[in-house]
Amino acid sequence: MPGLVIVGAQWGDEGKGKVTDLLAERADMIVRFQGGNNAGHTIIRDGETFKFHLIPSGILYPDKVCAIGNGVVIDPRVLWQELDELRRRRVDVSSLRISANAHLIMPYHVMLDTAGEAKLGKLSIGTTRRGIGPCYADKASRLGIRVQDLLDEKILRKKIMAAMEPKRSALRPYEKDPALDLHAMTEEYSSYGHRLEPYIADTAHLCWTELDAGRTVIFEGAQGTLLDLDHGTYPFVTSSNPVAGAACVGAGIGPSDIDEVWGVAKAYATRVGAGPFPTELEDETGRLMLERGHEFGTTTGRERRTGWLDLVALRYAVRLNTLTALAITKLDVLAGLDPLKVAVRYRSSEGAALEEFPYHQSILHSAEAEYKELPGFSGELGECRDESDLPPQARDYLRFVSEFVGVPIRLVGVGPDREQVVWMGERPALKAA
Ligand code: GDP
Repeated sequence: MPGLVIVGAQWGDEGKGKVTDLLAERADMIVRFQGGNNAGHTIIRDGETFKFHLIPSGILYPDKVCAIGNGVVIDPRVLWQELDELRRRRVDVSSLRISANAHLIMPYHVMLDTAGEAKLGKLSIGTTRRGIGPCYADKASRLGIRVQDLLDEKILRKKIMAAMEPKRSALRPYEKDPALDLHAMTEEYSSYGHRLEPYIADTAHLCWTELDAGRTVIFEGAQGTLLDLDHGTYPFVTSSNPVAGAACVGAGIGPSDIDEVWGVAKAYATRVGAGPFPTELEDETGRLMLERGHEFGTTTGRERRTGWLDLVALRYAVRLNTLTALAITKLDVLAGLDPLKVAVRYRSSEGAALEEFPYHQSILHSAEAEYKELPGFSGELGECRDESDLPPQARDYLRFVSEFVGVPIRLVGVGPDREQVVWMGERPALKAA
């Protein structure tokens, strides 16, 4: 089973970092395939907390190749800081590889992101204002600057000049004289080029070498399915494709290189930023999920919106990603809540029952979730390591979820620490070479 994709099956922040970290132990290479430093993964190892925004979670294993694929957009300043921090903590980062084809976030992307959100006012998307969207926009307009451009100052200067001019006029309504200095920017980015050069590589080729030798490669997604640019709740989405299919484009592999697709979902639901969220709770229960689950963004510190698990949306994610397995995280957070609810259909404002995730935004915005109530469980789950350690009601809850969406649950999170998991059934037959 050499190619395994891991994606978020909800609105992001599902705990993909921890799941990737656990599966990475048995893999040979880990590749991130989309997004930028708007993502944030938290891994707690031996009581030490690591937060990653760009570098794949697998970096904590020195013997594994860790790659930032061509589909990722990179702010070199952030990447360098992240590398520095890891080095300071004595993590060996020499196995990192950065795709020469990945696009770079430039200072004007960050300025445009901020200006764009400010202009939208109440209609703002809730972006992280890190320049990710404008960077992907430039990529599509063929105005992007790529990692490989950092290695030739002349080319870099020319490309920055061409890309910067339209930004100057776009920014003028917000700033009289936007601070866009071609010379300074070229110098700064060239210096990143010098520093990053040892890591720059043909990461697609590296994937092929590993896959062709029968070794295991994990393709790690950021954000979540419902934030997908094409299939999510547009426009309240991210500017890339977090669905499993994007692993092909964002890492440079073909669909038949993928053998398994794991979706990560919390035992409840959260969402950051604006946009429809049919199972949202704005009451004490929601507050409890927020506090117990520490639902604050890794990247922004923003409070997340919370709600019951939405099985209509999860089933949609299962189909979109052709999930072969689910990892359910944060089951421990639900302890003590009774009854537990899961959304099994929506009701439109006209009274129609909606069994499928509606494609029409107006319908989704006004849809109300209808719930199945399931018995709650109590007690601490943090010590559970085997399926039989879980309270029967917790097992019933998981069984209901799995049967409803038609995918086996292979892993359950019962606490933030790396060890706090229950493997369900057979452990995946992954094996590092
Ligand atoms: P990601 O971007 O999908 O990796 O998610 P984040 O890292 O932003 O959020 C996951 C958070 O939940 C992290 O702080 C994890 O330590 C924590 N976490 C992961 N799994 C569990 C779990 O099973 N239970 C609890 N209580 N926390 C968890």
